[in-house]
Amino acid sequence: MLEGLNMVQLIFYSKELALLHPFGISRWTRTHVKNVFVEWHKDGLVGYGEASPNARYNESHETAISFMGRINQSTLSSISNSEELCSYLSTIDKGEFAAKAALEMAFWDWIGKKNNQALHEYWNAPRTIGPVSSFTIGIDSKEVIDTKLKEAEPYPVLKVKLGTDQDEEIIEFIRERTAKPIWVDANEGWKTADIAKQRIEFLSDKNVQLIEQPMPSSELIAMREVKKMTPIPVIADEGFTGKEPLEELAESYTGINIKLMKMGSMYKSLKTIEHARTLGMEVMIGCMIETALANTAAGVLSMWADYADIDGFLLLKDRPFLGFTFDSQNRVVLNDLPGLGVIPV
Ligand SMILES: [Mg+2]
Repeated sequence: MLEGLNMVQLIFYSKELALLHPFGISRWTRTHVKNVFVEWHKDGLVGYGEASPNARYNESHETAISFMGRINQSTLSSISNSEELCSYLSTIDKGEFAAKAALEMAFWDWIGKKNNQALHEYWNAPRTIGPVSSFTIGIDSKEVIDTKLKEAEPYPVLKVKLGTDQDEEIIEFIRERTAKPIWVDANEGWKTADIAKQRIEFLSDKNVQLIEQPMPSSELIAMREVKKMTPIPVIADEGFTGKEPLEELAESYTGINIKLMKMGSMYKSLKTIEHARTLGMEVMIGCMIETALANTAAGVLSMWADYADIDGFLLLKDRPFLGFTFDSQNRVVLNDLPGLGVIPV
């Protein structure tokens, strides 16, 4: 009986979340996302985790649920640290990084609660107020972009999705309305080095602070050329899934965008930040379309990063969790609640 009490019990389910507005990037437009939530129950405490599986990486809510169903819950009970958890999960499936991220996130939330300590404190984070986060403007009609710019008024940095044949028009349209700094995300949309160079030249006097994934992730050699000419930092997102050697990426990119759903682990993400720093690379913490649960886990990591892009939950109409907040400068502010600092509502 006592043994039973010490067993880990997992509860997991998928949930459809409605977006505030249809959201588009260079590959798709959608009105809903279906994320997977997991609860790590042990000793009367609950750790929460969230997966936002991404078709770009051959994952879906169905594959994430099926992965979680293959976990032996009594094996989890004997696990005492993140490395053990990650190596057990990798024996079940080589992929499913979003589901793995959800489980490890729930594990850390539980560890924090068990120690009655905020995770940022447990991990000795260098600060509790992180970098400025951006407000994302997807690919849309001018009318919708205009509305979104009005919504974005309180936010100091705009992230603009490009990678279309109207990139210049979109930027000119935004620049007629605001001089705010812009982060560009081309989502692999500039297919050749010539196109990438031409777009970067156009953007170079438009107060653009960084460009995410200018070219397809496979174009590492072409990106070396682009990196040599660009005055704007270029950040690998689709080009960095957590498996590519950073030494090689450093030749083609100024920095990397670390997302929990690609890395599959908060702890591995932290180690990757340390590694990137030894190579002089910049670090951005990004997100998929996630609730404040996974966004708060990303918020903890952002304490070590240069840029945060964790506004996924702001794109959602459904907000089943409360977590970190933004201050008046839109910087990430962590709370001191035990664990990740999230509350289901
Ligand atoms: Mg991106």
